[in-house]
Amino acid sequence: MTTLLTTSDVAKIVALQGPRKVFTDLLDYVLADFLRWQEFDKCARVASHSATGVIELMPTADNELYSFKFVNGHPDNPQAGLSTVMAFGALAHVSTGEPLLISELTLTTALRTAVTSALAARALARPDSRSMALIGNGAQAEFQALAFHYILGIDTLHVYDVDPDATSKLESNLASVVPGLRIVRFASTAQAVKGVDIVTTVTADKAYATILTGDMIEPGMHINALGGDCPGKTELHADVLRAGPVFVEYEPQTRIEGDLQQMPADFAVTELWRVLTGQSAGRQRPDEVTIFDSVGFALEDFSALRWLRDSAVKHDIGIRIEVAPQLQDPKNLFNVVRMARNGQSALVQS
Ligand code: NAD
Repeated sequence: MTTLLTTSDVAKIVALQGPRKVFTDLLDYVLADFLRWQEFDKCARVASHSATGVIELMPTADNELYSFKFVNGHPDNPQAGLSTVMAFGALAHVSTGEPLLISELTLTTALRTAVTSALAARALARPDSRSMALIGNGAQAEFQALAFHYILGIDTLHVYDVDPDATSKLESNLASVVPGLRIVRFASTAQAVKGVDIVTTVTADKAYATILTGDMIEPGMHINALGGDCPGKTELHADVLRAGPVFVEYEPQTRIEGDLQQMPADFAVTELWRVLTGQSAGRQRPDEVTIFDSVGFALEDFSALRWLRDSAVKHDIGIRIEVAPQLQDPKNLFNVVRMARNGQSALVQS
C-alpha cells in the first residue's frame, strides 16, 4: 500500500512541528543528499512548453529510492485563481518499483526551495548577513523569509512587489509567525536592495526580465535568484552574473533554464555540492559578490519526499491507498476484473 499526503496533511505536519523545526530538519535532509551527490542518477528536467507556461517532470534516484516531481510554472495563473507553481510527486523502492508515497508538492516545493536557498546562502553569503531584500512577494516569499530568518538569522527584510496587495499579504503572514521581524516596504527594486546583505529575487514573469541590473549590486552582496528558471524567463541582467562567482544546482539544467541561459556556453559556474563538500571555494572575500542562480533540482524534491515519508510515519498522517495492486497471485491480474464482476476483491487485504 502507498501513503497519500494532501496539502492539508503537509500543512498539518508543518503546524505540528513548527516552522523553525521544519526548516532546520528539512535542511539536514537536503544537505545530506547534496553531500552524496555522486550517488544520484541525474538529468535535466523534461519540460513541455506552451505560450502560457511550462510543465516539467523531475526524476532522480539513488540505490534505494526513486522519486519524481510533476511541476508547472504559469505566471498568469493567479489571475485565473490558480497558483503559479503547483506540484505533486512520488517516492518508490528502487528494488521493486513499489510506490511508497504519493504527495502534494506545492507547499513542499516552497519549503524545499526556501531551505535550498538558505543552504546556499549559509555557504556563500557573508556570515554577518542580517538584512535581505525580497523582490517578488508571491507564494514562495514567506517561506524564503522564514528560512533565512531561522537558518541565517536575517532580522530585517526590505520588500517590493509590483502588486502592493502581495506585499501586504506577506507582511501580515510574517507578522503572525515572527512578530519581531523588521519589514520595510519600498516602491521599487532599486530602493529595496540598497544597503542589504542578501537579495532574493522570486518574481514570476514569462519574459527576459531584468529585475536586478549591475548598478544595483553592492560589494559583499549575496544574490539568491530564483525566478529565472525556464527558457525565455530571466531576472538578472548579464552584468549581475559578471559581478562575481556564479553557483548553480546542476549545471546542465541551469545552462538551459537559469539566468545563465543568456551567457556563453563557456561562462564558468560552480555546482553547489562542490562548495558544500569542500571541493570548491565559496565566497573568498567579504567584499566579493556571490550569485546563486537557482532553478530547483530533482534532488531537493527527493530529500523533501524522504522528509515527508518520515514525518508522515512520526505523526501518523496520511491515508493508505491502493495504487499498485497487492494481488493474491501476482501473475493473475485479470482476477481483479473477474472478481469485481461478482462484487469481490482479488487483493491482499492490509
Ligand atoms: P507568484 O506568482 O505567487 O509570485 C510572483 C510575484 O512576483 C507576484 O506577486 C508578482 O506580482 C511579482 N512580480 C512579477 N514581476 C515583478 C517585478 N518586475 N518586480 C517585482 N515583483 C514582480 O509565484 P511564486 O510561486 O512565488 O514563484 C515565483 C517565481 O519563483 C516563479 O518564477 C517560479 O517559477 C520560481 N520558483 C523557483 C523555484 C526554484 O527552485 N528556483 C521554486 C519555486 C518557484
